Amino acid sequence: MTTKKILVLHTGGTISMYEDQDGDVETGADNPLTDVKLVIPNVDLTVESIFNLPSEHIGPVHMLQLQQRILEAGNEFDGVVITHGTDTLEETSFFLDSTLSTHFPIVMTGAMRSSNELGSDGIYNYQSALRVAANDNSWDRGVLVVMNDEIHAARFVTKTHTTNVATFGSPISGTMGLLTKRQIIYFYNLPKRRVLPVSNVQKSIPVLKAYAGMDGQLLELLAAANIDGIVIEALGAGNLSKEAANGVLYLLSRDIPVVIVSRSFNGVAEPVYDYLGGGVQLERDGVIFATSINGQKARLKLLIGLDNQLTDNDLREYLHQL
Ligand code: ASP
Repeated sequence: MTTKKILVLHTGGTISMYEDQDGDVETGADNPLTDVKLVIPNVDLTVESIFNLPSEHIGPVHMLQLQQRILEAGNEFDGVVITHGTDTLEETSFFLDSTLSTHFPIVMTGAMRSSNELGSDGIYNYQSALRVAANDNSWDRGVLVVMNDEIHAARFVTKTHTTNVATFGSPISGTMGLLTKRQIIYFYNLPKRRVLPVSNVQKSIPVLKAYAGMDGQLLELLAAANIDGIVIEALGAGNLSKEAANGVLYLLSRDIPVVIVSRSFNGVAEPVYDYLGGGVQLERDGVIFATSINGQKARLKLLIGLDNQLTDNDLREYLHQL
């Protein structure tokens, strides 16, 4: 058996934090994960602490740094494992998945209980991520998220619970694979995605959630705030109140791209209803449907699309695609 060279990039998050005497969880001066000595047969680790940040402090600029480190690593490694806070892990994984076309596995993991808490899941998840990264069947699957014995695709994974260790789920596609004591099992392959490079992540793209009785005022205010685009988590399959629809028209008249996803936790957004505020009319007016991703991921996808100067149908197609 050949030895697998795995690059580990620690970024912080609960997996790297400590609980203090009052039970509060905090980032320490050093990252306890760097002292963990895991011995996995035929796996050779290179470990770097690229950041030690709670994931709320991680944004597209950090994601770009991670992406560049992975590109730099090139063919030196057979896989990459990234440890990360769980709050924005789905966004970092989605960003990397959308901008890297590397064939080797890139596996992200985190923990819901910090390093010295009873029942801490950090080292277990770390070891699971390493096993997945070192597995030959993990190649060409895009970025993977491994937690709690499950493997999820970055494209579909989301944090579903505030505190439970079984927090990550893929409501639309289902779990992609499982780890057992001896095996790593994959249930399906993903459809191909369009990977685009990214160089500038400095864009203003807010995400707004629709609600019953939403008016258009905030949308009109945002039009004056120099935004590059907006994502709206719309109702049901992708509908809005009449007033919000008028606000959307106002944004579109100022050439601000408006992307619609669903505020529903599960399912695909698509134009179904043909009346003011209905998805069919919204799409006719120029709104773009990002069918199968949530608001936080659609925001990153719009950012990447705009950075690649995609416009009109090209941008629409890119966001439509699974
Ligand atoms: N607040 C933490 C973070 O995202 C939560 C976690 O890691 O589980 O950094």
